[in-house]
Amino acid sequence: MLIIAGLLAAFVLLLIFGKRRGRLCRWRRQGAGAAPGESLYRCMYCGAEAFTSDGNPPLICPREDPPQKG
Ligand SMILES: [Zn+2]
Repeated sequence: MLIIAGLLAAFVLLLIFGKRRGRLCRWRRQGAGAAPGESLYRCMYCGAEAFTSDGNPPLICPREDPPQKG
């Protein structure tokens, strides 16, 4: 029972941190720099760049610690 509760707590924490990180990032599609069939997205928040092959912006930011604003 304790193990299940621990796993549940870890899962919830993972969801919270995953959402928070994703919410901080604003992905913008870049016209140049992407190969055919790929899309280049740039994070307006921390400046990270990422390629995706499905045309959708990345779910998470490759940067672990985005700089604080202000
Ligand atoms: Zn970012």
